[in-house]
Amino acid sequence: MSFGLSQSGANHELSTRLADIRQRIPPSVRLIGVTKTFSSDIVQQAYDAGLREFAENKVQEALPKQAELGSLTDVIWHFIGHIQSNKALKVVENFDWIHSVDSLKLAARLDRQAKILGKRPSCCLQVKLVPDPAKTGFEVDTLMSALADLDRLSAIDIRGLMVIPPYGLKASEVREIFERGTTLAQEIARRSPVNMTMDQLSMGMSGDFEQAIAAGATMVRIGSGLFGPR
Ligand SMILES: *Cc1c(COP(=O)(O)O)cnc(C)c1O
Repeated sequence: MSFGLSQSGANHELSTRLADIRQRIPPSVRLIGVTKTFSSDIVQQAYDAGLREFAENKVQEALPKQAELGSLTDVIWHFIGHIQSNKALKVVENFDWIHSVDSLKLAARLDRQAKILGKRPSCCLQVKLVPDPAKTGFEVDTLMSALADLDRLSAIDIRGLMVIPPYGLKASEVREIFERGTTLAQEIARRSPVNMTMDQLSMGMSGDFEQAIAAGATMVRIGSGLFGPR
């Protein structure tokens, strides 16, 4: 494989974008690079530029990349896509964080797989705060009535919520949805769950991470803002 000028050029550009985005994120907020559709070379470049947390949304795309990057032992891998039941084992096996737990059934399955594998992945419950046919996620009512069952799952570590606003809203509307996410996490925490905490809010992508941080995000998931258009 040859590494030409364009590759080092991309590396410089990526470092610049990373520095720019980091500057706009308080140190208490985790920056996760969303590398879906980008090659392992790009992940390696981001790693060389100092990024250590990466997210993928498809198991079949992520596993070969992770294999190619196997020597990077201090990377934290996040899964952010919808999980089909037959992929749950692979997700638990290969990811440290799972942001896209979107049903009680999936949570219970991940819990069983975690027990089998002797792993304890950190998880977020993906919640839909406004109707959005393009997304999966718990509706608020469904989530509230599933809380007792979710709290019985002890092999997965439920840490908070993931919120993705529908596409095409105004900045003020997006901010309002993120604030509802923060309020919902506080409401759940007030019920004093035993096996869950609600101290993590996975909210904010390239176009809206500043609104998300203003509303209380603890993790932002940035793809195109770091790696360019997909
Ligand atoms: C693709 C994706 C992102 C990153 O989106 P960008 O707009 O490219 O920053 C974040 N979260 C999820 C769940 C995604 O699927």
